Amino acid sequence: MTEENNHKFATMAIHAGAAPDEATGARATPIYQTTSFVFDDAEHASQLFHLEAFGNIYSRIMNPTQNVLEERVAALEGGTAALATASGHSAQLIVLHTLMETGDEFIAAKQLYGGSINQFGHSFKKFGWTARFADIDDPSSFEALVNEKTRAIFVESIANPGGVITDLDAISVIAKKAGVPLIVDNTLATPYLCQPKQHGADIIVHSMTKFLGGHGNSVGGVLVDCGTFDWMASDKFKSISTPCESYGGMVFGEVFGPIAFAISCRVLGLRDLGPCISPFNAFLIATGMETLPLRIKQHSENALQVARFLSAHEKVSFVSYAGLPDNAYHERAKKYCPRGAGAVFTFGLKGGYDAGVKLVNSVELFSHLANVGDTRSLIIHPASTTHSQLTAEERKAAGAGDDVIRLSIGIEDALDIIADLEKAI
Ligand SMILES: *Cc1c(COP(=O)(O)O)cnc(C)c1O
Repeated sequence: MTEENNHKFATMAIHAGAAPDEATGARATPIYQTTSFVFDDAEHASQLFHLEAFGNIYSRIMNPTQNVLEERVAALEGGTAALATASGHSAQLIVLHTLMETGDEFIAAKQLYGGSINQFGHSFKKFGWTARFADIDDPSSFEALVNEKTRAIFVESIANPGGVITDLDAISVIAKKAGVPLIVDNTLATPYLCQPKQHGADIIVHSMTKFLGGHGNSVGGVLVDCGTFDWMASDKFKSISTPCESYGGMVFGEVFGPIAFAISCRVLGLRDLGPCISPFNAFLIATGMETLPLRIKQHSENALQVARFLSAHEKVSFVSYAGLPDNAYHERAKKYCPRGAGAVFTFGLKGGYDAGVKLVNSVELFSHLANVGDTRSLIIHPASTTHSQLTAEERKAAGAGDDVIRLSIGIEDALDIIADLEKAI
């Protein structure tokens, strides 16, 4: 545990992981734009390679700029260690690569970011990993899918495209009973709004591309080891609980205890699959995180104002924002996201598909693009873009019917954001 853990959230967002540079005194974190690091001597080199000493070898596995970012995310999530990766998707890949063997299964919520549904349902099949999908609004549907091959349960705290708040406590009971870790994608909530570890998460993942970086300028991902799961309690997790051939028979679960999962992800998953984050992206994201509390507070306040405006608009058929008191997820939002319900939500236009296309063509302040979590306000009409390959019925089931618009509310002045929508609708 680092001493940062005694500090409050806003202090950790700025200071966790960072110290003045030992070589130069530089106060901002330097961008260590180097592939490799010189060993002290042959003995030191050998110790690093055998994990007898911690230190930098090669930037695919570890880099000082990346390390600052990792310690900051771990501190904000209350975890024991973190590992940054090239993207949110590669963080998910490394997490599951560490947990799964060919023929294993995991259970995921149906209500997920579309890209994760593709990754889990199609690409992961090629590794012999089976994703089984359950309904977040019916925890018993998760329990019904548990069997001896199950290795994890995966949910989002606030589910993309927004509005759905997961009952993490209920899902975590099922994961514990099944003897598998609960993985929570905390991208849309960020640790400022939701603390998944306090609700039973064992592993947390993020697309740092979104709110952690927060400025729409760098793709990155991260996984957090909460240090809560007992990997040695069963023979389910072979990468962690059995001797590792490529490290002289070391058993990571025995040697590394509460950081065994993060270490396994780094020295096996990241080492062998290779999706490392660049030092430059790590620098931009770590800098973005310094203002995380200020930004997310403003994002959420603006989103609530916009949601209220839309609810009262005659051309709007519904607004799906958990921050509104009449929303089905409002009580859960108050429990799991007490500081606000985030910035991403959907709403419906009475004019259907044509009205949606007209709206995205008419906005001026909003950017029409496929991302969330930028300082700028973003808009997309899923039916004509991200979900256009699906049938009308599938679109509806995914919460992306013809009349649905998704917003990611930025931190501009709320009056300007509302005026832009008012004119365009
Ligand atoms: C964007 C996103 C991802 C994927 O992250 P990338 O950085 O784009 O690879 C995963 N989960 C959620 C909730 C996302 O919004």
